[in-house]
Order: sequence, then structure tokens, then C-alpha cells
Amino acid sequence: MVYPIVKFGNPVLETEAADVTEFDTPELHQFLEDMFESMYAAKGVGLAAPQIGVAKKIAVIDCSNQERPEDKIVIINPKIVHTEGKQVGEEGCLSIPGFREQVRRAKRVTVRAQNAKGEEFEMTGEDLLARAFLHETEHLYGRLYISHISALKRDLMKRKIKKLQRAGEWG
Ligand code: ZN
Repeated sequence: MVYPIVKFGNPVLETEAADVTEFDTPELHQFLEDMFESMYAAKGVGLAAPQIGVAKKIAVIDCSNQERPEDKIVIINPKIVHTEGKQVGEEGCLSIPGFREQVRRAKRVTVRAQNAKGEEFEMTGEDLLARAFLHETEHLYGRLYISHISALKRDLMKRKIKKLQRAGEWG
């Protein structure tokens, strides 16, 4: 099923999610399928469980736009263990629709996480995948990409969002 995406302003987005302790259950496998379905429906390259209102450390990523099944990545209880280099590029978030900002990120990032079976693995990504690892892992710790932009830009964005909220145009 496709879950609605939780928007900025909901406290679940700014709270650390709980560690996952049970693996390989039918519920978890179903939930992961639903997460991919929800992410594709929203046309995102990554989705963290808090973005559909579930406060657990689970995220899914697919930088291929559904073109390569092997690019489907599940990261559970992820931690960033290595970063190097830098890249500057536009970043957005499904929970903050309509806004994009330039964000400086590491170019190469290694994440350590568990898969649906609970097996630990490490994976290194570059460019967009590196950005997705950072963006999604931060979500699971209650941090949004706008914490990386200037206070001035962030305040402006928040003011625009408040306006949309008042107009009833922000879910
Ligand atoms: Zn996001």
C-alpha cells in the first residue's frame, strides 16, 4: 500500500526513531514493500520510515528510478562510518515538497546497516547515493537537510511553509 508522506511540521520528523530489533518477520517484509511503493509513488530516490509516520530506523533508497532492481537498497539501523571528499548540489525532501536548496555533502560515504534479515553490511556510495545515505540516515535521527543550509534561508523557507499551512495547502 502507498502511505501518505508526512510533511515538515510533524514532530515525528524531528525525533530520533527507535532501533529495529525484530528482523525477517512477515510484517517487516511487507512494510519494506510498502515503503518502496510509497517512495516510487512520490517519485523519490529515498524514503525514511518517519516520513510515513513510523518512528523506526528503516530507510529505502533507489537512485535508478526503478530501472535497476539491484539498486534497491534497504538500510535498517544505519550508521555513517566513513565520509570523504565533498560535493555541492541541489537537495530536496519529500516531506518538504516544493523546496530545493544547494547542500554541501561528502562525495563518498560508507554506511553500516542491517538488511531485512538482520545481517550487518557495509556499502559505499558516491555522488547521489552518498547524498541519499546521508539524507536518509539523518532522517532516522530526526535531522532534516535544511539543518545544512543557512539560518537565513531556513527561516525564509519556514515562513513560506507557515503561509502554506495557513492557506490549508500543507498536508
Ligand atoms: Zn527527506
